[in-house]
Amino acid sequence: MRKIQMVDLVGQYQEIKEEVDASISNILSTAAFINGPEVSAFQKDLEAYLGIKHVIPCANGTDALQIAMMGLGLQPGDEVITADFTFAATVEVIGLLQLTPVLVDVEPDTFNIDPKAILKAITPKTKAIVPVHLFGQCANMDAIMEIAAEHDLYVIEDNAQAIGADFISSNGTSKKAGTIGHIGATSFFPSKNLGCYGDGGAIFTDDDELAHFIRGIVNHGMYQRYHHDVIGVNSRLDTIQAAVLKAKLPRLDTYCDKRRAAARKYSKAFEDQQHIHTPITVQGCEGICENCNCHVFHQYTLRITNGKRDALVAHLASKEIPCGVYYPIPLHKQKAYQDSRYKDEEFPVTNRLVQEVISLPMHTELDDEQINYITESVIEFINS
Ligand SMILES: *Cc1c(COP(=O)(O)O)cnc(C)c1O
Repeated sequence: MRKIQMVDLVGQYQEIKEEVDASISNILSTAAFINGPEVSAFQKDLEAYLGIKHVIPCANGTDALQIAMMGLGLQPGDEVITADFTFAATVEVIGLLQLTPVLVDVEPDTFNIDPKAILKAITPKTKAIVPVHLFGQCANMDAIMEIAAEHDLYVIEDNAQAIGADFISSNGTSKKAGTIGHIGATSFFPSKNLGCYGDGGAIFTDDDELAHFIRGIVNHGMYQRYHHDVIGVNSRLDTIQAAVLKAKLPRLDTYCDKRRAAARKYSKAFEDQQHIHTPITVQGCEGICENCNCHVFHQYTLRITNGKRDALVAHLASKEIPCGVYYPIPLHKQKAYQDSRYKDEEFPVTNRLVQEVISLPMHTELDDEQINYITESVIEFINS
């Protein structure tokens, strides 16, 4: 059996090697390292794939979130509601801009922000909601967009983990993750579903004026060379990363299919296990999607409900099976983000999830032998 990796990007590279090597070698010989033609070419390809008017590439996903908030003109003291159970980047940029983060609990089955908790957290100072489409599945965007419309709030989708996923609205329309709210932000970190070979990110919007404003923000607030109209940042996707992403984008749906196929095999193996809760897909899909793209499994995350999660992590390590705990500490308990406004009992789901979740190896190169070895090892231990 091949050694099991948590993330395996070598196979993907072998498939696109010729194209990527040729593009990179061309970039090296033309020295168009910044703003080379591949950047706008990738931007246009991604706009077409997502069905959105504007993609603004930037340096990474954290910048994308920050720039989205700057673009919307959020001001110090404005409250921004986001999930307690997520990667810290989301709440970090809220803090950096001196906005006030308001963390709320998530749903136990999807791990995504709970619309009921959002409603409870709204105050006259609330200006925006940042749903994170955690592990590759959209948050309940119907409910979130309705709340936003009712309370006149912006919605910034943190789509770092769900690029390529579809959101099927209750009225039957389908949209790509990241294109439903007022603005979407994503990351092209190597291990994301569409990853480059370094750092990268992008912002999406259908709003022409906002897109223009943001194009200046990413470039030092310049709309005309050496005229600085607003305080901006320096955040660029470099040409080499754009060339890699341009080669990978046409394969994104295939990558997502391979992840879903692995997820189906995992879930099938665990279906009769009482103490193992497999991830669910919502939106009218029966079990794990067969025919739709609602979940793109950035992570395949189980809940272990008999208290053996930590022991399982150690057991898997002893069997040379890598795994991850995303995330082990709720944001409201992190030193940097503690706030007297948070009451621990307002986060019952997150507090439980941090003790139950475990993410198994998930990437496009998993084979049946590896998946069987992983599922057998998990089941044998949980029932021991
Ligand atoms: C990866 C990630 C980010 C940050 O992306 P970077 O490109 O690493 O800055 C933000 N939010 C979530 C949910 C992520 O998973």
